[in-house]
Amino acid sequence: MHPDPSPAELIAARPQFSLHAMDGLLLEGVPLNAIADALGTPCWVYAAGVMRARYRALAAALDGLARIHYAVKANDHLAVLRLFSALGAGADVVSGGELARARRAGMAAGDVIFSGVGKTVAELREALAAGIGQINVESAEELAMVSAVADAMGREAPVALRVNPDIDAGTHPKITTGLRGNKFGIPFDDIPALYAHAARLPGLRTVGLAVHIGSQITEAGPYRAALDRIAGLVRALRAAGERVTRVDCGGGLGIAYRHETALAPALLAGVLRASLGGLDLDLVVEPGRWLVGPAGVLLASVVLVKNAAPRPFVVLDAAMNDLLRPALYDAWHGIVPISAAAARAAPMPVDVVGPVCESGDSFATNRPLPPLVPGSRVAILEAGAYGAVMSSTYNARPLAAEVMIDGAQWAVIRPRQTRDELWRGEVVPPFAEASG
Ligand SMILES: *Cc1c(COP(=O)(O)O)cnc(C)c1O
Repeated sequence: MHPDPSPAELIAARPQFSLHAMDGLLLEGVPLNAIADALGTPCWVYAAGVMRARYRALAAALDGLARIHYAVKANDHLAVLRLFSALGAGADVVSGGELARARRAGMAAGDVIFSGVGKTVAELREALAAGIGQINVESAEELAMVSAVADAMGREAPVALRVNPDIDAGTHPKITTGLRGNKFGIPFDDIPALYAHAARLPGLRTVGLAVHIGSQITEAGPYRAALDRIAGLVRALRAAGERVTRVDCGGGLGIAYRHETALAPALLAGVLRASLGGLDLDLVVEPGRWLVGPAGVLLASVVLVKNAAPRPFVVLDAAMNDLLRPALYDAWHGIVPISAAAARAAPMPVDVVGPVCESGDSFATNRPLPPLVPGSRVAILEAGAYGAVMSSTYNARPLAAEVMIDGAQWAVIRPRQTRDELWRGEVVPPFAEASG
């Protein structure tokens, strides 16, 4: 067991952060204290420069080998979608709402891929009417649905079959998607017959295959295993006379939260090239977390420090309703004091929790942190992906503010939700007030 990285080590390993003697923790040169002073906490902060740099690094490594479709569910804010769209990205969506967001942000439906195991008839109609670029079909049952909907509309749906390659991505069970027992994709062995069947169904244009084996993958091995299997399928389908022009290689590129070594884009590109490069295919990748995770932090303030055995509880004003990952996946997130003095002080182990009435509302257990007092601020790192998108208003806690910084400027991209907004849309019917 490695000891947890200290705040100083976390900062040193992340070039987007620096520590200023007076201003404390800076993200891309912007003092996080200034944002917290202006807006209060909890508050999300995203660095546009980090998102752009990561997109460009991935695009450079892929060097035209594959197109990047940003997985909208990682962070679906319109400003984030606009940023990636401006860089030339397409999108991967998993609901009609995400499709609407992508289009609202200016993306053409033709640049959007629609994945997910339970697309409704209404969502399929909406996608086809808009001219969706590709529908990744996840079952024989869904294939029949897409065919019926498209045929009734007089449209031709571009479909790829999502393969479940039965590969263990070596990640957390709740974010593994390519194993036989997962709900995702079509069993590998069923693909040839279903592909041939799809080519005969009305309303469909089969374009190829898709695969997405899970999230937070930090090794090349699972990708290689899955894509080699896909390459075999492409050859077999073509040998049987089928037309296969596209392979969607999915997302899942992992990042460093704790001790992990993030998978380098060059390694992913190497796997794509080795497995699929010679097959004359249009390739797509769908990263979400890798593009936005390291670009974001969640700022929080210490409400109080509760003395307890075996360790004190540091109670923050942020909670699981803001950042759910620790409660949902036991995810580890770096926590760094924003004040320069605190970030350098000698650490001692504490439990960092939120105020929500759930024992699962914990950000860190037995975490060495410098002494914190009421009002001390901390930044929770790698919060740009699967952060704000998973927020709820549980315990009637308003959604936190969101900020985007770019160079020296910053903008509120969503104000903190107000009390009134908490119950907007709720209706109290007269019978609720009747006594009997
Ligand atoms: C969630 C998801 C992604 C993105 O996963 P990341 O781990 O964020 O890269 C890509 N494709 C599909 C089909 C997904 O469901």
